[in-house]
Amino acid sequence: MSLTGRRFLEGRKFPDGRKFLVSAGPTVEAIDPVRFISNHSTGKMGYALAAELAARGALVTLVSGPTALSIPENVRQRIDVISAEDMWRACTEMWPAMDCAVMCAAVADYTPAAPSSTKIKKSSESLSIPLKPTKDIAADLGRTKREDQILVGFALETDNEEPNALRKLEQKNLDMIVLNSLRVPGAGFGGDTNQITILSRNSKTTFPLESKSVAATHIIDAIENLCR
Ligand code: C5P
Repeated sequence: MSLTGRRFLEGRKFPDGRKFLVSAGPTVEAIDPVRFISNHSTGKMGYALAAELAARGALVTLVSGPTALSIPENVRQRIDVISAEDMWRACTEMWPAMDCAVMCAAVADYTPAAPSSTKIKKSSESLSIPLKPTKDIAADLGRTKREDQILVGFALETDNEEPNALRKLEQKNLDMIVLNSLRVPGAGFGGDTNQITILSRNSKTTFPLESKSVAATHIIDAIENLCR
């Protein structure tokens, strides 16, 4: 058992009473007052994780991009955000008070460099919108992670899945990464099912296609095992 894990579990039944930050849903990046850049995330996986953690007695703060979902029962707090910058601010502010963060949000990698304050008019010319990179929230939490904190990320890949996920584990200083492949029918965005592989520095477990709520139980069990 690692020192980190020992401290994390000391005196309590995991995850009861532990403070968890869960990020979920997409981010929405304004181009002008009526248009935006976003992605297909519905937030279902993150909300399933928040629900399962709360059911196990964890103190859950859900930082959520725009979704149609309602706050799961017993989740202590939901902070609603829109852009990647908003999500970065909320997560980095909360992080020092947390025992664990599970970064499930599909954060935009780029945002318009200078959103227009007025509606961009149509013309017959082609239009280019300069984009700038967003801040990597998980990587910033990883940089300031203490010995007693656990950081979990997600990787949604279309190719070269496992090497890409392992690279992200290292680059973002994660303790565990959950890989879901868009190659598997029924996995990924929108639906109620997912097919996950959980990777840590010394373990790999692949699960069959299953409901997102069952996948959430496996992810939380794996966080618990990481601490043994
Ligand atoms: O690099 P990539 O976007 O594939 O990494 C996915 C993981 O990083 C997820 O856990 C996601 O929530 C997190 N992430 C983040 N901030 C970003 C981009 C990704 O927290 N700007």
